Amino acid sequence: MSKKDTEIVEAGRRKAWTLGSVNPPVFHTSTVIFDSVAEMTAAGRKSHEIMSYGRRGTPTSFALCDALTTLSGAAGTVLYPSGLAAITTAMLAFAKAGTKVFIADSVYEPTRYFADHVLAKFGVEVIYYDPLIGAGISKMLDDRVSVVVLESPGSITMEIQDVPAIASAAHAVNATVILDNTWATPFYFDALAHGVDVSVQALTKYVVGHSDAMLGSATANARAIDTLRRQSGANGQCAGPDDVYLGLRGLRTLLVRLARHQESALTIAKWLQGQRRVAEVRHPALPGAPGHELWRRDFTGATGVFSFVLEEENEAAITAFVEGMRHFKLGFSWGGFESLVMFYRHLSRIRTATKWTAGPVIRLQVGLEDVDDLIADLADAFARYEAVIENH
Ligand SMILES: *Cc1c(COP(=O)(O)O)cnc(C)c1O
Repeated sequence: MSKKDTEIVEAGRRKAWTLGSVNPPVFHTSTVIFDSVAEMTAAGRKSHEIMSYGRRGTPTSFALCDALTTLSGAAGTVLYPSGLAAITTAMLAFAKAGTKVFIADSVYEPTRYFADHVLAKFGVEVIYYDPLIGAGISKMLDDRVSVVVLESPGSITMEIQDVPAIASAAHAVNATVILDNTWATPFYFDALAHGVDVSVQALTKYVVGHSDAMLGSATANARAIDTLRRQSGANGQCAGPDDVYLGLRGLRTLLVRLARHQESALTIAKWLQGQRRVAEVRHPALPGAPGHELWRRDFTGATGVFSFVLEEENEAAITAFVEGMRHFKLGFSWGGFESLVMFYRHLSRIRTATKWTAGPVIRLQVGLEDVDDLIADLADAFARYEAVIENH
């Protein structure tokens, strides 16, 4: 097997799909025309490799699926029109009425909304667990559990989970293990090798990497792929050809970009540790961060998103901090080339298994700009913050 940097350049580039060019064409199609019944039947049987109908895939999507499957050491990949569609469809594929679905308390909030408002409606019992529970989860699990959902690090609060311990407890009761691996990507956390059955990516983030498309994927092992494919197909899930193309294009440069995101984010995280108004920096690569030892054990890198906790619960001061930044723009999402800032004042409202008692949280997505410019931008933000607090 080649090294990762080589694989990411070469994966998914079959001549049958690229027709000899470096990249596959973008197929805008619904209907495929066949010359014979035999040809039509053969295409239908291999619809994740041969075009049979637009919804079932084209050489553009086959190439991206094949690349993600290869790079994740998986059995197959299904694409979705967004990351949220990927995680929710994966949950729906394995949950059943009368069973329990366990979800990490630190999960992406829309995932939680889907569980509470859609899964629950179909008679699935939704239970949240402490993301840092580790092997202790086995005491909560029984043979009525169908799915265990993890996200590591958790959204906003950045807890790293003990994925192998939780996965083995889940497998002991025959549950399917689904991980949202968007932050680490398959390159900084090898999900399937750590016991995950279905690894979900909001490709919208680092893989697309340029804030210009919505796209999701679920990559599964041999145990889970058939169910995932059938159930996603039954839901009519597929992604638009231009977005799929942008995902494939972004993938080729992902490792180069991640290295820069990683380096700048770590520099900024360390700088933040020296700021007097910062109560805590939650970056998995920093000693003392929640789950840091697990990050060291299981991950091969850190990406560009992390958060920090401010000392003061002062709305006007936080607003002054995040408004008027020159480089860190205020916006949802992350993973593009540009830096972003977000703030969260009411985390306690989106937790049920654990309590969030620390102060307001600011999350940064550290982009590809010069790191000194980014630090200067943050220094000015702290000055604005300080000025509001001192005027009180
Ligand atoms: C953004 C995000 C998603 C959803 O992805 P979309 O493409 O925006 O639907 C899912 N999980 C995590 C962890 C995310 O950050």
